[in-house]
Amino acid sequence: MDLQELSFPFQDSIRPCESGQGYALRMAQENGLHGLPLLKTWLGKSRFATLDAADAPMLHRWFGANETLLEFALGHTATGRREQGYSYAGQSMGRSYFLNRAYPRVCPECLAADEHCVIPWDISLVVVCTRHRRTLIDRCHYCQSALSWNRSRLGACGCGVELAMSDSPQEVMPIEVQFAAWVDGRVARSSEQMRSASQSVAVVPARPVGLTALMTLLWPLSLNGGLHVAYALGTAAGYDDQSHILPRREKTPLKKAQQVLVQANELAEKIARLEPVKFRISRPSVVVQLLAESAAAQNGSADQSLAQSILVAVLRYQKRATWSSLNPNLSQLLLF
Ligand SMILES: [Zn+2]
Ligand SMILES: [Zn+2]
Repeated sequence: MDLQELSFPFQDSIRPCESGQGYALRMAQENGLHGLPLLKTWLGKSRFATLDAADAPMLHRWFGANETLLEFALGHTATGRREQGYSYAGQSMGRSYFLNRAYPRVCPECLAADEHCVIPWDISLVVVCTRHRRTLIDRCHYCQSALSWNRSRLGACGCGVELAMSDSPQEVMPIEVQFAAWVDGRVARSSEQMRSASQSVAVVPARPVGLTALMTLLWPLSLNGGLHVAYALGTAAGYDDQSHILPRREKTPLKKAQQVLVQANELAEKIARLEPVKFRISRPSVVVQLLAESAAAQNGSADQSLAQSILVAVLRYQKRATWSSLNPNLSQLLLF
């Protein structure tokens, strides 16, 4: 069999915001291939490997989707220890852990309605579906196994149980919904830009009212920038010894993500209330730059001062020399 010449009977394009691995699984299912393991073998990959942009040409031949759109939806995943060179949905990702490509999460209601997986579910800090306002699921309610990309159908666990039968286990929190909505917006915009022939720049959506402190900061930033700030504050919150938040490490990536979001937001709110905090960020330069960027990009003066307060709180624990040289505009920013 010549894999280069192979073309499956059921062909389809990749949908807006559909994830590349989700597309491959959907096409495998439609063509009766029992999931991704066989495709991975043909692509010379192990069962545990993640599909990425390098697989776009073959997936295009087999299933028909546009190769450039496939690359966009598969992303470039660096292997080994290198922490640079990741990208997903047309955006660079500064850290591999920003993405959750190996432990799939789904909204069973979206799957039941649309039968495809979306890119935001692969962003580690996205824990809810904004459309159905429910927590995403990452394990089977019946056999308790973690969901796998090697399952044979999009909407069913490997044990055969339909995921649509699971109920939403917990109330969603405002920070979870707002964060997921921000990611949705960023991904949709970048997907639109990718698909529009006119190359027109998509309009930035108006900022909703009533945002949490963390989301006020993140709103003007790029996806990559916002993820840096969220993780930095979420991690820094662990050092705040006056914090009442439990530092206990939760096991699953989904629970860890919930914890990072809540901690980052509580820290941002605390700083906004001008309460003293004590924290340390091991490598501050990127975060300091992003916070400065956020402060500069905020529309209202209240938001601007929130970003500045956080910046000042972070800088309090840094040597002046390390940050003032990073960004000459910073000194001016801090003057008022
Ligand atoms: Zn949903
Ligand atoms: Zn199961």
